[in-house]
Order: sequence, then structure tokens, then C-alpha cells
Amino acid sequence: MNRVRCLVFNAALGPLDYRVPQGVAVEYGSVVVAPLGPRQIIGVVWEEDRLPTDPVPEAKLRPILEVLPVPPIRPELRRLIEWTADYYCASLASVARMVIASGGALRGPASVTEYRLTGGMPERMTPMRERAMGALEGEQATIRELAELADVSDGVLRGLVNQGVLEPVLVDCDRPYPRADAGHAAVDLNPGQQAVAATLVEAVEARSFAPYLLDGVTGSGKTETYFEAVAAALRQGRQVLVLLPEIALTEAFLRRFEDRFGAAPIVWHSSLKSTERRRAWRAIASGEAQVVVGARSALFLPYASLGLIVVDEAHEISFKQDDGVRYNARDVAVMRARFERIPVVLASATPALESLQMAESGIYQKLDLPSRYGGAQLPEIRIVDLTEDKPEHGRWLAPPLTRELFARIERGEQSLLFLNRRGYAPLTLCRNCGYRFQCGNCSAWLVEHRFSRRLACHHCGHEEKPPTNCPECGELDCLVACGPGVERIADEVAEILPDARVAVATSDTLNTPEKAAAFVAQAEAGAIDVIVGTQLVTKGFHFPELTLVGVVDADLGLEGGDLRAAERTYQQVAQVAGRAGRGAKPGTVLIQTRHPESPVIEALAAGDRDAFYAAETEARRHAGAPPFGRWAAIIVSSEDEAEARDAARAIGGTQPRVKDIAILGPAPAPMALLRGRYRYRLLVNARRSAQVQDVIRDWLARLDLPRGVRVSVDVDPYSF
Ligand code: ADP
Ligand code: ZN
Repeated sequence: MNRVRCLVFNAALGPLDYRVPQGVAVEYGSVVVAPLGPRQIIGVVWEEDRLPTDPVPEAKLRPILEVLPVPPIRPELRRLIEWTADYYCASLASVARMVIASGGALRGPASVTEYRLTGGMPERMTPMRERAMGALEGEQATIRELAELADVSDGVLRGLVNQGVLEPVLVDCDRPYPRADAGHAAVDLNPGQQAVAATLVEAVEARSFAPYLLDGVTGSGKTETYFEAVAAALRQGRQVLVLLPEIALTEAFLRRFEDRFGAAPIVWHSSLKSTERRRAWRAIASGEAQVVVGARSALFLPYASLGLIVVDEAHEISFKQDDGVRYNARDVAVMRARFERIPVVLASATPALESLQMAESGIYQKLDLPSRYGGAQLPEIRIVDLTEDKPEHGRWLAPPLTRELFARIERGEQSLLFLNRRGYAPLTLCRNCGYRFQCGNCSAWLVEHRFSRRLACHHCGHEEKPPTNCPECGELDCLVACGPGVERIADEVAEILPDARVAVATSDTLNTPEKAAAFVAQAEAGAIDVIVGTQLVTKGFHFPELTLVGVVDADLGLEGGDLRAAERTYQQVAQVAGRAGRGAKPGTVLIQTRHPESPVIEALAAGDRDAFYAAETEARRHAGAPPFGRWAAIIVSSEDEAEARDAARAIGGTQPRVKDIAILGPAPAPMALLRGRYRYRLLVNARRSAQVQDVIRDWLARLDLPRGVRVSVDVDPYSF
């Protein structure tokens, strides 16, 4: 090729053409550095006919500067990039950037210097140094990363290096990973598991696109079963991607994987250190990486030869990305498998309605594991009607639940209390004047966190110290907490069971893989009597001594008129219930509710999943909601309230009139103020068959909006 067209990493630019200097070899997918004005830009060489643009005359072409020493992006992944950009109304550049992940992965040196504490002391201790040294205990990373971690300047750390308190360690970014062995410690599957495994193994060996919905109750051995498919891919020398919804789950998974295959898989998530990121990226692109376990972003990595994708806990909402490119990793996983011509397994005990519908219409093949492994019984489920069994004043656990908790402590068994609310209390007010503490950047209350003595916004991360007097009326020590969060429930347990060992498990307390691992180890060793947790603990964990699950407030998710509220509540409660009685002892689940007659609660009490899904299907059909209709949200935001409103109105005023598509709004978005931006929203509702994305793209392309206005499109939004 002597001239090439590049997809460049700048969403504001279209494709750019370049000349290829003599003697330089490029192909489609090559990652190149090219000139852009006085600067340089990274791009990927693309098929010309797929990126139409006005051709640049030969004489005007500038030469590409460098072909980066990484394998070219394969056509399968190029097609996925195109599909993702097209389907989610995003720019090709923003999707392509997810593939390259970080420039560091491409250009980095083969080795990097990291630093760690030597145990020595500085000649002169300063508060800053002391703080940094405390924060860096057990850490090893580059100066930049350590500075971020310890929240000090690079200079402070350089000082510590000079004093011999921090020492350099040379890290080889290309050192090999341990090899997994398909036959390391195979397990004997029961007949039901065998049948499912045989189907999946055959699919891996067939090397063609095949989507599966692995629908099995909690503890049925879904993981054990799909491990056989992983083994089949390993035997073929092909790569496997396992997507997990939560980094806290990874640690338990890694250990399990290592037991089975003799080596831990490669982990990929957003908080990887740059050296680990570079090492993983290169191993994945070269084909050295065998199995990658990752968060949703692992889906866009440049696997050399993918043989299988598994999406575990596929119903989880954390697979939906809600900023940048707003994609659903569950759906993109199926598309990636299609382009790669490989099988994909969506595993869940409570599949999304969309996935069940795909199975019903024959697009996905459904594989069932209807009973728990080893004869473990599904737990007994009881409803606690809070309108009759009232908790004591200022308390949240009703007598039937506290009685069961007592019994567990006496028998030395474990309990789990589930409440999907971090912090101590969701709302704080002034006892004197009723002033409510609100976030200045968002339409949200500040949540009190007692452990960290902070009022925090769960939307933008803003934190402040709780004041001693009310900012409104000035009254001293007037703050009252309203409603429960997990910390408050933990306090209540400590009051009624003073000897119980209580652990709070949320994304605040288990915010690193190490902390998550320590928690799992403690819980497994029986060093915790009562776990109080958010949705983080509803899935993936397997604690054999856990025999009681208490759902503190089953009505929580049902408030707020969200179309998916019922499904989400059902899934969450069913998942957390699935933590009980996984070992030899039977489990009990108590669900506290003020609405025992609601269809969700009734279905849960009766263990009648089919009834729930049938009712939910009808409701969705009636509302034109997925999977029967399609929704898309157009969010218009600005730091200026009037500017956002005017822009939203202007967009609404030019709305296209198309058959089968209805446009609602604009109206203030559910979070009308988020991170300092005022937000308005238009909702597009369409029949499945309508070309919504084309309509939206054409519509928005015609707009001319003020600079401060941002418009983003959310196709298949999760909540609205
Ligand atoms: P799921 O993923 O469906 O929740 P798991 O795969 O985690 O189920 O299995 C639940 C528990 O049962 C795990 O501790 C697992 O090791 C065990 N188990 C499942 N199947 C087998 C088997 N065939 N042999 C031995 N242990 C098994
Ligand atoms: Zn906020």
C-alpha cells in the first residue's frame, strides 16, 4: 500500500488519508502515528470503502511517521468497532480508543521502574512524608501512581527516594504469565452438568458463532460447567474471555480458576497499574494470554485468537456503561462472538427478560441446570410483613428477623443482611429547621458515612465533613440521620447481638482486590457472624456456613417508577437468597416488606420464577418496552440551566416525524443536575423494527448548538 486511510483518535475529525513512505509495510489494522498540523495523532489503517471521505489529492498527502510495533487490529475487531459505534450512536474514534485502551500499551518501554518502601526512615520526618509512607504500605508502582495513591506530589516521593525510604524495582513488562493447563484438576460433573458441558465443548470445537443462555439456579454449578468449555478452548490453544460484573468477585473467581487450571488467569479492569495494563495488553494481542477475566472493557481488547466468551451473572446492570460510549457489554459480547465466529455463554440464575426472550425466539440456545449441586436444597423463603411485625422505634430489623439472627449466633452459623444502600443514612437533616444536606453539583441528598466521618454524594463523589452546626439556622449538634444504610444496620446488629462479629461489605469497605480477598477469606474461615452488605454480596460468593439471609427492605428498589424496577428487585432478592444454604445445612430467607401483596414479592415467596417473568413480560409488552420495543434517551446538558433547557427545546423542535417512532419530552432528566451540569432529556420509543439509530443520527447531525451544550445518546438505557 502506498497510501492509506486512517481512523484517527479524535472524534471531531473524519478519516484522514496519508502517504506510506517507501519501505514501510502497513496493512489494514496497523496502528500508526501520523502528523496532524504541528502535532501527532494515533490512528488505525482502515478499509477505504468503509470510511468514505473526499479523497485528498496525491500531492497533498503527508507521510505517516511510524507503524507501532503491535499486531494489526484484526478485521473481526474492526467490524465490532464499526458495529458498536453505529448501534450506540457513538463516534468510531471513541470506540477505537477503547481498543487501544491507553497509549502506554503501545509505546511503552519493555521495562518500567516501580518503587516500594524499604522499611527505612527519612532523616527528617514531615507530616506529608508520614502520610505518604502510611499510604504506600505494601504498594509497588511508578512514582506517578504512588503519588496519586498517597495524594501527594511527585516531589515528596522523589525526596523519599533520595533518602532511601523508597527503592526502585525494575519491572519487565513482557515477562511471561504462568500457563494454565486444561487438565490440571478436572472435576466429575453430575449428569445434568455433563449434558450442558458436552454441548458447550462441542460448540467450542465447532468454531462457529453460537450464543447460549446458561440458565441455572444459584449453586447449580454453572461455573464448574462452563470451565469445561474453557478447557476445550485451552486445548485448542485459543483464548477465552470471562466477563464478570464486579471487581470484588474477581478474587474469589481467580482462586477457583487457579485450583482448576493450575494458574491464575489474566485480570483486566480499569484500576490496573500501567505496567500490568501494558503487560496484559501485549500478551492478549500476541496470543500469549490464555484466559482473561475482566470487567466490561475487556471486551474491546485485541485478542489474537479468541475461542470462547463467557458473560457470568449476565443479568447484572454493571455490564451497562453509563458514560463515554454507552454500551451494554452483554450485548456487545454476543456481537463480538458473532464477528469472531465463536460461541458465547450468558450465565445467570435470573436472566434478563431480553435474554429469555432471545432464547424463546430461538436466537439463543437455552441450557438449563435446574437444581443445586450435591442435593443442596434451595432455601425456604418467608415474608415479614412490616405493617404487622413492626421493628422497634428507630430500628429496622423486625422481631422475626432478629429471632432468626439470635438462633444463628447460638448455632455458630453465618447470617447475611442485605440492604442496597451504602453509608449510614441516606438523608441527613437539621432537627431544628429541617434543613436537608444536598449535593451542590447534583440533585441528590448527601449520604452520611460514619466510618469515614463524611457526608458524600453517591453520584459525583463530592465529600464534606459533617458540620457541627446547621448551615441554615446555626443550631449546634442538630444533625439527625433519616433512614437506614448498611452502616446503621451494622450498628443495630451490634446493639442486639453485642458478641457477634459483624462485617460491612460494600464498595466502600471492599474497594480493592486485596480487601475483597481478605473479606472472603475471613467469611470462609467463619470469622464473621453477620455480614451486612449491598448488592456487592448478592452474587458469586459461596459461604457454606451461611444459613440465613435477611432482606432488610425489599420495597427499596420498587420505588421510583423505573420500568425495570420489578425485574431488578426480583433479581437482587433471588440472587441474595441464593447465598443461603449452599452447604450441607439448609438455608432460610426472610424478606421484609410493606407490600407483601405485590407481584414481585408474591413470586419470590412462592419461588415461582415463571409467574414473575410471565407477568413482567406482559407489562413490558403493554408499555412497548424492551424486548418488545426499543427506547433511546437523548441527554442534553450544560453548566448553564437556561442554556440546557433552550438547547433541549431546540432539539425537540426539530424532531423528525417517522412512522413507528414516538419522541417524548424534553423534560428535566431524572438526575436534573449531575456533576454540575443541568440535564434535560428526550425519550425515543420505537418498534423493534424501526431504524432508530439512523433517525437519531440524522436528527442530531443537523443541529448547531452552543459550545457549552453536550448531547449524548443512550441506546437501550437501563433506567429511565
Ligand atoms: P453457580 O455458578 O451455578 O452458582 P458453582 O459452579 O459456583 O454454581 O457451584 C456451586 C458449588 O458447588 C461450588 O462450591 C462448586 O465447587 C460446587 N460444585 C458444583 N458442581 C460440582 C461438581 N460437579 N463437583 C464438585 N463440586 C461441584
Ligand atoms: Zn454530587
